[in-house]
Amino acid sequence: MSLAQGRPYLAIPGPSVLPDRVLAAMQRPAPNIYQGPLLEMTDALYLQLRTLAAPGAPDRVHPAIYIANGHGAWEAANTNLFSRGDRALVLVTGSFGTSWANTARRLGVEVEVMDFGRRTAADPNRLEAALRADRAGTIRAVLVTHTDTSSSVKNDIAALRAAIDAAGHPALLAVDCIASMGCDAYDMAALGVDVTVAASQKGLMTPPGLGLLWVSDRALKSCANSDLRTPYWDWTARIEATEYWQLFAGTAPTHHLFALSEALTMIGEEGLPHVWDRHARLARAIWAAVEAWGQGGDIALNVPDPAERGHSVTAVRFGGGVAGRLRAWTEAEAGVTLGIPLGAALPDEPAYQDFLRIGHMGHVNAHMVLGALAVIEAGLQALGAPHGTGAVEAAAKALLR
Ligand SMILES: *Cc1c(COP(=O)(O)O)cnc(C)c1O
Repeated sequence: MSLAQGRPYLAIPGPSVLPDRVLAAMQRPAPNIYQGPLLEMTDALYLQLRTLAAPGAPDRVHPAIYIANGHGAWEAANTNLFSRGDRALVLVTGSFGTSWANTARRLGVEVEVMDFGRRTAADPNRLEAALRADRAGTIRAVLVTHTDTSSSVKNDIAALRAAIDAAGHPALLAVDCIASMGCDAYDMAALGVDVTVAASQKGLMTPPGLGLLWVSDRALKSCANSDLRTPYWDWTARIEATEYWQLFAGTAPTHHLFALSEALTMIGEEGLPHVWDRHARLARAIWAAVEAWGQGGDIALNVPDPAERGHSVTAVRFGGGVAGRLRAWTEAEAGVTLGIPLGAALPDEPAYQDFLRIGHMGHVNAHMVLGALAVIEAGLQALGAPHGTGAVEAAAKALLR
């Protein structure tokens, strides 16, 4: 008999769990989009967004909101950053890096991919060497994911910035924070990032539908003449808007804005450093459990180095085809939905499909994570999959450490 009745836990790496407060904020009649409370809320929301992406220097970044998912936000970044034939260097640590590169290529950008595999972070030394080799400075921008959700690899943005500076190269730095914003420590002004990309449905606890960009002064100036721009994606009007409709190039995403505002208010009440710390501690609990299971079975964290693991998603490798059966079991029997593997199998990684990803982003707390881990443990037992013992105990200890 299934024990799935009750509140489900969608533990996939986006869309993430929606807080009741966010749902309640959307429960309202259609607002006037020309004056009144919606416009007042939007002013406050833009300030919240600046503070979210650049807590140390909110005035130095310019947010733009698109009615789009993360793929739309990529296109917004690409079309503003590049002109036809411009060169991009994309640092790839999983399938989202590859996809961002492909979207840029299809727009006519000359894309060079530097692939670091799926288990380790991008190497700043290789980036520096590539930029030094580009003597003419033709690489217009370096694109990288903060956390690649397919692999759960997290890149060291400060080290990558330092590599660009050490090479004395003028390239802009654009970072995909779709999976990490509101989860992992980040301050784009302090890090010297020029364009930050995010979306509403992961750490930001809002339904999918808003693509977010933050742009530095340097990028605004440097991209003023990019010729891939199209009217909808052009960030100029959105950032320098004098009319409300210009912020959204048309009708505002009214209810999504109320939802995002409520989510950012929740983050503000908890305090961003506390939000980051909560994600770090919950992540450590999950890592400890997986390591314990691995003591007695073919189960392992995808990313060996803890410093290179994102705090919002954990990719776990299995053997013997267990991952798929385990996902089916936890959802049907216990109401916990775990993430599927993403990305094609690689020649040197035949086991890549025997993978699952645990999403622990946004509105998650200790009992949800410990509960999910205990459910995975029950699933391993039910399936007769060999695994080490003491995982939940190890998770509890890691949580308190
Ligand atoms: C989810 C995700 C995307 C894609 O976002 P969509 O809303 O599905 O288009 C891109 N990059 C990263 C790092 C993500 O986690």
